Amino acid sequence: QSKEQGRNTYRFYTPTLTAAANERLALEARLHRALANEEFVLHYQPQFDTKNNALIGCEALVRWQSPEEGMISPLRFIPIAEETGQIVVLGEWVLRTACIQGKRWLDAGLSPLTIAVNLSGRQLQQRDLVQRIALILKETQFPAHYLKLELTESMIMGGGEQAVELLHALKALGPRLSIDDFGTGYSSLAYLKRFPIDELKIDQGFVRDIPGDQNDMEIAATIIAMARNLHLKVIAEGVETQAQLDFLIRQDCYACQGYLFSRPLSATEFARAILKKPH
Ligand code: C2E
Ligand code: MG
Ligand code: MG
Ligand code: MG
Repeated sequence: QSKEQGRNTYRFYTPTLTAAANERLALEARLHRALANEEFVLHYQPQFDTKNNALIGCEALVRWQSPEEGMISPLRFIPIAEETGQIVVLGEWVLRTACIQGKRWLDAGLSPLTIAVNLSGRQLQQRDLVQRIALILKETQFPAHYLKLELTESMIMGGGEQAVELLHALKALGPRLSIDDFGTGYSSLAYLKRFPIDELKIDQGFVRDIPGDQNDMEIAATIIAMARNLHLKVIAEGVETQAQLDFLIRQDCYACQGYLFSRPLSATEFARAILKKPH
């Protein structure tokens, strides 16, 4: 939206604009250093089977521990990393780190689980993305079927035949593919049939106001029913209350992720609190 405004209106150098621009520049430079200094860390948020509460996996979420500022939210630095292209290096670090962690847990005999990793649109534009992911899987020895890649609708829509091919090539490596923030992007549903997708992830925006908001309940229920009809798995994100969970159980939503179950945890916390040795 601000890009649109930038194109169609004159820009005045107001103190606020300058401050914002300076902040961005400073953040960009610090991101650069942070990548070199390994100031990033992954947290893992568990995902559960709605029916029996069994752990099915987790989502890896990147955190920036800045020496100057402490923890910086990805909501603040991911958009900048996307604009500058730094997300490509960061995204690869995230994928490799998640695979290394997953392999460690497997080797430690902890319950095997799927690790979901967020991909950015910029990464999808890399010519050699498939080879790069293949290399990371090979180097880390993390079994590809335990990896899940989260993409958004806007990333793959409008990509035409090329996007279809890319997703098939990704899928051929072995990971599962999930559509993150489902329902917030383009509303064309035809693509669901053309892409080799395994899962829809209902955006937390549709979960937040359940059971108060009738429209959101209809939308969530519709996504769940559609996933069932298309033989896709469906997971709800941002589940915070028992009332939301009750609704999702009634609708037969396959899986849930949210603060009701657990916040994203450090690898150590995750292993201690969530993972168990199988009996
Ligand atoms: P997302 O992929 O949709 O991730 C879910 C976000 O919801 C996470 O925020 C998570 O901490 C938060 N969340 C989980 N459960 C609840 C809940 O019950 N209530 C509420 N209110 N929030 C909940 P986080 O970690 O701040 O990440 C924000 C976004 O940043 C992510 O949204 C994702 O788009 C992006 N992101 C995070 N890590 C990565 C990454 O490694 N690569 C890329 N490209 N993007 C990332
Ligand atoms: Mg995600
Ligand atoms: Mg999401
Ligand atoms: Mg989301």
